[in-house]
This record gives sequence, structure tokens and C-alpha cells, in this order.
Amino acid sequence: MSTLPSPEQRLYAIVEQGLCIGCGLCQSVAGKDKVQVIKTTQGYQQPVVVGELDHDTVNKIYATCPGTCIEGLPEKLVEPDTRVDNVWGPWRRMARAFAGDENERHIGATGGVLTALGVYLLKSKQVNFILHAKSSTRDPSFGDRQLSFSEAEVIESAGSRYGPTATLIDIDEVLDRNQPFAFIAKPCDISALRNYARHDERVDRLVKYWLTMVCGGYGTPASTRAFYQRIGIEPEEVTALRYRGYGCPGPTRVETKDAVKEVHYLDFWGDDESMWGLPFRCKVCPDGIGEAADIAAADTWPGGSPNRIDSETDPGVNAIVARTRAGEELVAAAVADGALSIEYDITADDMSIYQPHQMHKKYAAWARHQGLADEGRIKPETARLRIKELSEELPEDINDHQRNGTRKRIQDGKVGEPTPEIWRHQ
Ligand SMILES: Cc1cc2nc3c(=O)[nH]c(=O)nc-3n(C[C@H](O)[C@H](O)[C@H](O)COP(=O)(O)OP(=O)(O)OC[C@H]3O[C@@H](n4cnc5c(N)ncnc54)[C@H](O)[C@@H]3O)c2cc1C
Repeated sequence: MSTLPSPEQRLYAIVEQGLCIGCGLCQSVAGKDKVQVIKTTQGYQQPVVVGELDHDTVNKIYATCPGTCIEGLPEKLVEPDTRVDNVWGPWRRMARAFAGDENERHIGATGGVLTALGVYLLKSKQVNFILHAKSSTRDPSFGDRQLSFSEAEVIESAGSRYGPTATLIDIDEVLDRNQPFAFIAKPCDISALRNYARHDERVDRLVKYWLTMVCGGYGTPASTRAFYQRIGIEPEEVTALRYRGYGCPGPTRVETKDAVKEVHYLDFWGDDESMWGLPFRCKVCPDGIGEAADIAAADTWPGGSPNRIDSETDPGVNAIVARTRAGEELVAAAVADGALSIEYDITADDMSIYQPHQMHKKYAAWARHQGLADEGRIKPETARLRIKELSEELPEDINDHQRNGTRKRIQDGKVGEPTPEIWRHQ
């Protein structure tokens, strides 16, 4: 009898080893008669096998899943005069910017740049729709994949979803529309669709713009439940959750059938990150900075966190990194149109001041991945992210600390998820 893992076991290994981010792509790759990305007992959205899987399909999933394969900007998009910062990746322009429209700026998570660009692309008829995310109608902490065909729909989807969000769950059907569109999503979603582009020529033909946010990871379902309880609300009573927006960062707003409670964003995330609970995949992320996108948008709080006093009146300013010629030209055109305002240009050093956690994670990624390999876990395949070069800049003891820390977490049973099982109360 064969002792080799079955196709189903191989797919589940990605989840069990903590590398699934719940983007939904595997459902599209395998077909929903075989794999469904659905809410599971752990409260995540994860793949559940519902039909007969074969090894070829699982091979294709491994080649496209952003848990197992993460690459930087495709080489053909790096121009001879594109600068490449070792931490911040390829870039043509970095600037502080905000939406030209006051309402978009106010509603947006930071300064409304991603919303403003989405609206601009629709209005200027460069794309027919935007593929992005909005708050879920199924679970208030989730995001749902959203297709926005109008300005109003883009604006309704503004704000960050810090819960499970499967933007690529039906990407095959989205591509079947055969219409040009822009994709706004997390860096891992961008990696996933870039991976898929190598298997489906429609992706590069139809995705006209790739826009992302710098991302430190989303909240685990357990930490979101703990947050509800901290503020005296029973998780089952929640009907809506807005993480941020309506100011920068704006309040975190929880609705139940009978009440609305708004707390400071820091009461959700914690002042010192002590309340952050991240999926494991986010802890070993080699690309929270959106290297494969045309433009990445971020916050601009020095040190990475807002403070309680200034955030009462902060209208919101994004840091933007235009990585490709298309991204640079889009920024210039949106500024000329008044859709976007630039405060002033910045450098990679400014990005590290705004995002020290991203810089540290980028330096640590290689050693953490080595720790995974040491323990016989799946080591994500990476390319064009410079993580090995960055680790070589660090003293040996720091690399050892990161590598051994990952090993210890695995040995202590702290890394991983149970085999996915469908959540029965949905
Ligand atoms: C999980 C997560 C972690 C983040 N971590 C950091 C960080 O470490 N550092 C930092 O500077 N910024 C972080 N951000 C980004 C920040 O919250 C803002 O999204 C970013 O600055 C863009 O602001 P904006 O005002 O331009 O966005 P908006 O104008 O509000 O537009 C946001 C766009 O992103 C889409 N979107 C929101 N959530 C998701 C999601 N979960 N999946 C896919 N698409 C989504 C929306 O549909 C909308 O189109 C994070 C965002 C998320 C979702």
C-alpha cells in the first residue's frame, strides 16, 4: 500500500501547516465541484475538499497558492531605470498622497487613495469594473469579494477588512466576463493572481491595474472574538463590523441588533501590538509590502501606529509606492485629473519610518523560512523578493534567533491548524 500523501492530504497540508491565507484561488483552480473555500470550524475561510482531487490539480494549486509560492514583480515590468530598494523593492515614485475628493478621503481607511484610484479608473473608462472586497453579508468580521461597476460601489467598499476575505474565490468566472478590470487587494492576493497569470493568459490581458495595500496581516477569528468580548459584546450578537475609515484611522464600529458601539482603533489592535493575533502565514510573510503590484498604499504614522490624540483630527495621508511605469503614469494622470493630491515625495527611508514592522519582517523572512524547512514543513518558494540578501545583512545570532524561534514554535505545537471542516452553524 502506498504511503505517499493523497492529493487531498497534500492540499490540506497547506492549511494544517498554517500557510493558507484564504484567498480562494484554489477553489477556482480545482473547480467548486472539487474544492470549496468556506468558513471552517476554526472561523477562517479555508479549502474543503468536496469532490475527487488529482495530483495534477494539487500541483497547480501548489504553483499558484500564495502560501506556497510568492514572487516579486514580474521581471518584464522592472524597467532599466526602475530603482530597487533592498527592503522596499522596485519603485519609480514614492510620495505622500490622499484622495482629491474629501468624502473619499474621509471614508477611506487612510487617505482614500485606493478608493480614489478605483473611482478614477472607472470614470476614465480604463476598466469596466474593480475586483476588490467589501464587508461581508455572511459574517460581519469577514470581507467578501466585490465587483464594483460604479463609483458608488467603489466608495461603498472603502475601508480595510481585517478578517478573512477570499477575493479570488471565483476568479475563473470573473475572467470569463472577458472585460478589462483593476484588482485591488492584499499583497498575498496579488501574488496569487500573478502566479495564476502563468497558467491563464487571460489574467495579463484583462487585469489592467494591480493595486494593493501594505499589509501586516489580518486578525485571527479568535482575536476578533476576544475583541468583541473585551468591549462587552457577545460575538453572536454582532451584525456589522467596520474596522476603520471615516477618519484616519477612524473608530472601530461594532453594531448589534439593538446598539452601536464605537471604540478607538487602538482598542481593537492594541497600543503595543499585544492584542494582535495573526494567522501564521502572515508571521512568515516575505512580502507584506506588495512588491508585485503597480502601486502599494500604506499608512504614514511614524513608528507604525496612530496615537490616540492626533487620530481624532487626522484627515488621512497615505504613503504610495508606484512600482511600475503603469503605476507611475496612473498616479500622474489621477493627479492631473484632481482625483489624487500629492503632499510631497518621499524615500525608502521614510517608508521604513512609517512601517518599522514591515522592515523587520522582511529581514526576518528568510531565517523563518529556513526554520520551516528544518522542521520538515512546507517552505514557501520565493523569487525576486531579496529575502536571502537581506538576511545576509544581519548578524548571525539574529538569524539564528529567528530560525530557532520558528522551529521552537513548531516543536511546541503552536504552528498549524486542524484539518479543515465546514462550520456547521453558517
Ligand atoms: C489586513 C490588512 C492589514 C494591513 N496592514 C497594514 C500595515 O501593516 N501597514 C500599513 O501601512 N497599512 C496596512 N494596511 C493598509 C491600510 O489599512 C490601508 O488599506 C491602506 O493604507 C490604503 O488606504 P486607503 O485609504 O487608500 O484605502 P481605501 O481607500 O479605504 O481602500 C481600501 C481598498 O482595499 C480593499 N480591501 C480592504 N480590505 C481588503 C482585504 N482584506 N482584502 C482585499 N481587499 C481589501 C477595499 O475593497 C478597497 O478597495 C492593512 C490593510 C489590511 C486590509
